[in-house]
Parts: sequence; C-alpha cells; structure tokens
Amino acid sequence: MKEIVEVAVGLPVFKTFHYRIPEKMRDSLRIGMRVLVPFKGRKVTGFSIDLLEKPPKGVEEKLREVEDLLDEAPLIDPQMLRFHRWISDYYLYPLGEVIKTGLPPGLQLKSELILSLTQNGINSLAQGSLEPIQEKVFKEIERCRKTSFKKILKLFFGEVSKSQLFSWKRKGLLNIDAGIEGKEVKPKFERVVHYQGVEPAQPLSKKQAEILNRVKEKGEISYSELSQGFKSLSKPIQLLQSKGLLSLVRREVCRDLSVRSEFKPYPKPEPTSHQVAILDEILKGIHSKQYAPFMIYGVTGSGKTEIYLRAIEEVLIQGKEAIILVPEISLTPQLLSRFKDRFGENLALLHSGLGRGERYDQWRRIWKGEVKIAMGARSAIFAPFKNVGIIIIDEEHDPSYKQDEKLKYHARDVAVVRAKQGEATLLLGSATPSLESFHNAEKGKFRLLNLPERIEGRPLPRVEIVDMKKEVDLLSEKVKAALQKNIDDKKQSLLFLNRRGFANFILCPECGHTFKCPNCSVTLTYHLRDRSLQCHYCDYRIQAPGDCTQCQGHRLQGMGIGTERLEQEIKSLFPETQVERMDRDTTSRRRSHMQILKRLESGSIDILVGTQMIVKGHDFPNVTFVGVVSADTSLHFPDFRASERTFQLLTQVAGRAGRGDVFGEVVIQTFNPDHYSILRAKDHDYVGFYQEEIQFRKALEYPPFSRFINFRLVGNSEKRTKAMAEEMGRTGQSLLKKGYGKGIEILGPSTAPFAKKRGKFRWQMLAKGKSPQLIHQFAKELAFRMEVQTKRMGVNLDIDVDPVFIL
Ligand code: ADP
Ligand code: ZN
Repeated sequence: MKEIVEVAVGLPVFKTFHYRIPEKMRDSLRIGMRVLVPFKGRKVTGFSIDLLEKPPKGVEEKLREVEDLLDEAPLIDPQMLRFHRWISDYYLYPLGEVIKTGLPPGLQLKSELILSLTQNGINSLAQGSLEPIQEKVFKEIERCRKTSFKKILKLFFGEVSKSQLFSWKRKGLLNIDAGIEGKEVKPKFERVVHYQGVEPAQPLSKKQAEILNRVKEKGEISYSELSQGFKSLSKPIQLLQSKGLLSLVRREVCRDLSVRSEFKPYPKPEPTSHQVAILDEILKGIHSKQYAPFMIYGVTGSGKTEIYLRAIEEVLIQGKEAIILVPEISLTPQLLSRFKDRFGENLALLHSGLGRGERYDQWRRIWKGEVKIAMGARSAIFAPFKNVGIIIIDEEHDPSYKQDEKLKYHARDVAVVRAKQGEATLLLGSATPSLESFHNAEKGKFRLLNLPERIEGRPLPRVEIVDMKKEVDLLSEKVKAALQKNIDDKKQSLLFLNRRGFANFILCPECGHTFKCPNCSVTLTYHLRDRSLQCHYCDYRIQAPGDCTQCQGHRLQGMGIGTERLEQEIKSLFPETQVERMDRDTTSRRRSHMQILKRLESGSIDILVGTQMIVKGHDFPNVTFVGVVSADTSLHFPDFRASERTFQLLTQVAGRAGRGDVFGEVVIQTFNPDHYSILRAKDHDYVGFYQEEIQFRKALEYPPFSRFINFRLVGNSEKRTKAMAEEMGRTGQSLLKKGYGKGIEILGPSTAPFAKKRGKFRWQMLAKGKSPQLIHQFAKELAFRMEVQTKRMGVNLDIDVDPVFIL
C-alpha cells in the first residue's frame, strides 16, 4: 500500500518533500497530479512525483498529511516527469518550478492568504461595536464569506494595513488561513441540443414544431446558435425534452483561435529529387523507432518545410505525435497556414501570444489526445503528448529558443533530450545552423543532410556590400537606385534596420547630456509618433523635452537612426509609393502583424521597412530587393556570438529576396566591409563562415570547445548585490583551490553588461570549463553554498547554462 507521496512544491526550493497520504486519497492519488500540502505555515501546490510504501529513513515522525488532491487525472506522465527531472538537474532549477513551466498558466495555482470572520468577529459586527474602518472591512469579508488578503488590502488601500489585519486576528476577530487563489482557468462548456430521431406522438405547438425542425435539419446544434433564431427558448426546449424529442447535453468547447489560413492555399507539391533523398533518410529514422537525430542544412528557399510536412505525415501513420517548434510563431503566420492547409484541425498551437484561456484549451487538446501535432514557440517542447514520434526545430539557430528568465532553458537542447528519452526522430533545420549544432553534426552527433539548392534552381540573390565610410547619407546611392528600379518594375522591396524608434538617443551638443532610463543602464530611444522617450527594456516612457533638462540648451539632437526615421526618410524620397513599417510599435495590436504580411502578399505594399521581424521565414515571390541599412548593430554586441548572429541575420534577410522567378538583389550597408561575417554572408557561404568562426572559438577556447555557466546576482539594493558578488567571488575561488581549479576558470565577478535592468542591480561571474560534468558539479556546489546568504540578503542567484550541448 502506497502511503507516502514525494512532492515537488512549486516554489524556488531544491529539495522535494514527503507527505502522508490520507486514507480517502489512497485510491485516487497518482504520480503527476497536483496536491495541496502544508509547507512552512502555508498551504502550497505541489506535484506528486513518487509514491512510496514507507517513509524514507529519518523522516518518519515528522510527516504531515496531504491536504487536498487537485486533479482527477495526472497532468504529466512518468516519461514527462523523467524529462522534467533531467531539465531540473541540468539547469539547476527546482523540479516543481520546471513542471510549472511546462503547464499552461491557468493551472499554476498559487496559494495565498484568505480572510474570514470568526464567530467573535461576526458577533461584534452584528452588535455594531467596531470602529468605522473595521466595520467596512468586516462587512466586505462577510459579504464574500471568504476573501483574499491581497484583495482587501487593495480595496481599502490607504485605509487598512497588513499589520492592522494581523492585529484583528490576534484579537480573535479574524481568521487568516492559507488557501488557494480562485483564478484557475476552467474548461469552457457549451450546451448542445440533439435530435432524438423520434417523431412527435401528438401535434406540437407552432413554435415547438419550428424548433424541432431546425434541430432535425442539423442533427445537433448549439444552444446559443439555436437561440439566435428563436426568442425565449428555454420553455419549449424543456417541453420537447420531456416528450423525448430532444436532448440537451453539455460539451467542452475550444476557445476559438481564429488561425484560419488567410494566405494563398498551399498545394502539396511533388518533392524534388533532393527532397526525396533527404526524406528517404528521415523515413528510415522514423521507421527505426529509435532516437534518430538529423540536421537539415538547407539554404533559404530550398524546401525544408515540405520535408517537415511529409515527415510528420509518416509519423501520424505510425500513430505517433509530432512537435514542431518555430521561432516566435506569431511572426510566422505563413508557415502556420501551410500546416493548417495540410493537417486541418489536427493541430494545436502553443505560444505566448495566446490568451490564458486559449493556451489552456490548446494544452488540453493535446493532453486529451484530440490532436496529434503541436506547433509553437519554445514552450511547445513541453507539449503533453505521450508518444512523440518526431520533434522538429525549424530555424534551429534562432536565439528566441533560449529563455532568458526564470528557467533558462534552450528549447533545442531540451528537445534533443526529449527525443532521446522518447526514442523519437529529431529534425533540426536551418540555412545558418548554430556553430554548436553544426559542430555536433561534424562530430556525428546529428546526421547532416544537405539541401544545396533553392527550389526549381532559383538562384540565390546577388549581394553587394557598400562601405558607408564613403557615403554621406543614411541610404547609399546603390540602395536608392535599387529601390527606384523596383518601383519602376512594380516589384517589392524590404529594408532591414534592427532598431526601432526614431532616434537611438537624444544628445545635447552643448553640455553632452543624454537621457537615460532611471531603471536600466541604457539611453532612452526617441519616438516621433507620440514625441516620447522610451526605454526598450522596461517600457519606461516620458514626454520628450523641448530643451536640455541639464543646461536648458535649445539644440537637442537625435542620434542614431531607427525604423521610424527610416520610414519617414523613404516616404519623402519616394512620395508616390506605398511604404509601411513592421516593428514592435506597429504590430502591438493583435493580428496587425499578419495584416501587414497579407498586404505585402497582395502587392499593396511597395517598400516594407522593418526590424528583424521581417527576417523570419517569409516567402514572397515578388520581393526582389532587400536592403540592409546597417549591418553593424549586431556586430558590436558585447557577446562572443556577435559575429555568428550577424552572419545569420544577414543571410536570413538576404534569403527573403528573389523567392520567385526573378533574380533577387541585396545590398548590405556597413562600416566594416571587410568583416568575415559580412563577406561570407555576401557569398552565401555558411560553411566558409563556419570554418573561420570555429577557428576563433578554438583559439580562444570558447564554446563549443568549452562550456560557460554564468552566475548572475540580481537585487534591489546596489550595495547588497555588490557585497554578494564579492562573496560569490571568494566562494568561487575557494572552490577552485579545493580542486576545481584544474578544469575550471572563473571570470569576474563584475557588473553585468546591463549593470541595471528594470530597476535591479546586476553582477555576474562566469565559469568556463571543458568538462561538462565538472562544470555542472562546480555550479551545484557554488549554488548550494550561496543559497542561504543570497536569500537572507534579498539577492537572487540566477544560473544561466550556455547552450552548448552536453549529450
Ligand atoms: P525553406 O523552408 O527551405 O526556406 P520553403 O519550404 O519555404 O523553403 O520552400 C520555398 C518555396 O518552394 C516555397 O514557395 C514552396 O512552396 C516551394 N516548394 C517547396 N517544395 C517544392 C516542390 N517540391 N516543388 C515545387 N515547389 C516547392
Ligand atoms: Zn528601462
């Protein structure tokens, strides 16, 4: 008899805890369900991760009981749990929090304090013996019977304080208990009316007959649809029901996602011989029913999507499921629409652009087995399938696969683990594979499949580099001429600039003052539309001042150019053309992004200006010119991946040109015309770039030749954060002396590249080492030693494992 449950609580604690299972729950409690357990004077939600017959040694006497069982069926199965355990261990992140990451937000119950009146409190209220504010608060609590502590504080802000509430508790007037917040998303139901197939024995009233006919026509119809045709439905339906002619049932519905494809339909093409050759290999992998990892390295427009679609078809035939990850799915409606055309409703979508209810519904469709394919951004790797046959990662090099906060996982890396654990096929696809993945392919960890040509032998675009040191204007003569030519030829153009806003920052030339964000260590960007200065990291914004706030000078200048300014420039250069802009500012409304792309497809945009949003895998045959306004922004980023990132961006953006029958042209403007990232992108030479870059990495012992783990301290107090950083430095050094020094090197501690972000101070220390086991061991020990102190000082230790893969 399993009497004990091991629980991972959904809190930042590494340990798991054991509880006794009450008699009445023993039949129903299973692994993977959520439970409510007492924890440090509170009640918290946790996940049942193991069931035991006896308590483990040493904890027998202290065991407390599970308070409540929150699920009727397990949310995660044992295989998923194994996956979560691996992630927890690898990223040094508490198991309960890992499990939470994989669940839709509506399920993440939080416990909180709940207020109710004691008998004494109720009596006092009735007698009218309370102070006025007390009376107001008590009335509100009585009205709801139970209500949340937080809600009362908010409702009576400025009138009642936490300590007052606790003092009323001490006087025996109030109960303050830990309870569960009531905001859980629930499945949505609708009522459906069914025709019973029986003819009426007696004549019906006119209205009843009409209703019956309408239902009969359809067989079944939702109550809400039916009620559109008839007023006051409930009585006649009741009568028809009692006569056995109709029945009324409740059924779960899916909150509509309206992802209907609005692009041109995508017919199923005959695969080319290259595609066939690659598919053959992949199908062998799928049929082997073992872990089969592939890397498809194929230039932009070489037809990777068709390979994904066909591989998935094969997996479905085997009765298995498929996960496909795409970078920021809300940005790739075209790809989604191709999947919709091929698989119809057999597809769930998971990404952060969905509302809470929608995400919950999509997740449930997967969990209940209603769909076999899940498509989404990085979090879709947690799709609760039980029998995944294939995991596909499109644009595997994309930085959005890495989550930068909380659980800092890389979706590609965990995908490898999920595929391996589940003996599934893995497809990584890219025209510009990440250095680490290509290196892995070279070492034979992934099978390399090459798609060297664009479909129908369409040539790759011709790329020219313009040295901006020799130009005076923002746009070179070459770019202007190319835009003009495209306007004359009725072709479309894209202009790429990876910086939104009007001016990068505002400078007073008289005193040198710039305007900085008070919360982050960056300058504020000037936006012309609402004449504001904005922080792009924390959304702080103020009205742009007319004069310098420091010296009252009148000559404030915008420095550096953003997409807003570029758009204006283009409009004044080409007043007769349709110019639009696509960046975060013009796509904040839902679907606005899709609308811009639709206008591009239909030809009502001549020139589209945009940030990296325009880079993502779109396929528009009439776009024949792409201009890169500045290739230097990403090149100067303080990150050892800056060259790689630049090469990827340039190649991807250039790949948007010439997808149709007409030759594509690309112009790259740069102040670094001799940089190898730019030269190799010009020649579409990924392998050349790779060989050059990998030499640097090797010489400097950077990933993939070593592994990095970054330890970041983040705190509200500058002093305490710094003190903790120094302490972490000492701890690190002492660990090196203890023996880690042979394989590990420490850089820092120092302030992080953003010394301040969103009002928090940031320090970091980097550990570098060759052996993955050793560096993980080191990280664990360091985290363990810092845990108590950092908690006490109110500083957070964030551990960030660089995505260089371990398996
Ligand atoms: P990638 O994902 O490699 O960038 P896509 O899958 O978008 O490339 O394919 C590029 C274009 O080629 C698309 O317009 C697609 O419809 C077309 N295409 C793909 N495969 C075939 C094929 N076998 N025959 C004809 N056209 C194809
Ligand atoms: Zn800021």
